[in-house]
Amino acid sequence: IRKIGILTSGGDAPGMNAAVRAAVRTAIGFDMEVIGIKRGYNGLIHGDFIALDAGAVGDMIQRGGTFLYTARCMEFMEEAGQKKAFEMAKKHGIEGIVVIGGDGSFRGAEKLSAMGLPTVGIPGTIDNDIVCTEYTIGYDTACNIGMEAIDRLRDTAQSHEKCSLIEVMGRKAGHLALEVGIAAGASAILVPEKEYDIKNEICRNITEGQKKGRTHHIIIMAEGCRDKVQDVAEIIEKETGISTRVTVLGHIQRGGAPTVRDRVVATRMGYFAVELLRAGRGNRLVAMKGNALTDYNINEGLMMKKSIDETLYTICQTVAR
Ligand code: ATP
Repeated sequence: IRKIGILTSGGDAPGMNAAVRAAVRTAIGFDMEVIGIKRGYNGLIHGDFIALDAGAVGDMIQRGGTFLYTARCMEFMEEAGQKKAFEMAKKHGIEGIVVIGGDGSFRGAEKLSAMGLPTVGIPGTIDNDIVCTEYTIGYDTACNIGMEAIDRLRDTAQSHEKCSLIEVMGRKAGHLALEVGIAAGASAILVPEKEYDIKNEICRNITEGQKKGRTHHIIIMAEGCRDKVQDVAEIIEKETGISTRVTVLGHIQRGGAPTVRDRVVATRMGYFAVELLRAGRGNRLVAMKGNALTDYNINEGLMMKKSIDETLYTICQTVAR
């Protein structure tokens, strides 16, 4: 394989740049040429390319976001768009593509592989919601940003003796909310994977805490929960009488310099992905299992099941009071 392409797609995540950097430098080390494809599948369809040499990815490892830009591309959802993308890659002599993104991006990568263009996916999303891997690039950074933000909110909740209800990102999954909540010492954590009862459980705990002398409360809610955070705040205020402030962390959690863990995992995964392409192994997803890297067939990888860490949830139920 002489020439590969690399793109970032779906939501951006801190560490994507580190993965691109590692993939580029690994490929160059194997005497391959590397083409950076801008704005995900959009750039592939329209030939929006830049040649990447070792220098082009310098001063990138510490940057959040993705310097290749990312996009959602509706045209690529259709067969016609996929064909265009395939032809464009062929025209430019691209013989394999590294796709850094989430589930949707990998479904797209699978389509290209089926057409005869080998692809390897690297999991990059702050949500850690890709089933076949225990870790996705960006997750640790997002956890740390969330924790720091909640530490700050705690100061003001404590000073004003209020309840602070904080919505944490994570799409439909509760991984981010659970870990951030534990790290920030939340008194309750609501995740979509688990049933919860606001009146009889959350509010009662708050009231009991008040009786024991607790003056402020930190409650974490995953964005994927079925209830709206404002509605939950209203119930808490009505039932407990404690003034409740809502903060939605939102995209704050997605920005910023990647942590050590994200830079190291991104570097390992970037290297691993290029090795797979070099070995002629397309239609693969890079995944982490017990701190080692492995790979799965894209379809099989996406069909696996993953829930939140049950042990962690039990521990959290015990210590979060
Ligand atoms: P994140 O979860 O971080 O948002 P994602 O990769 O799941 O990332 P999506 O918006 O679902 O984000 O997908 C990104 C892009 O991948 C889409 O805009 C589209 O171009 C392509 N894509 C998604 N699903 C498919 C599919 N079933 N077939 C072909 N291409 C797809």
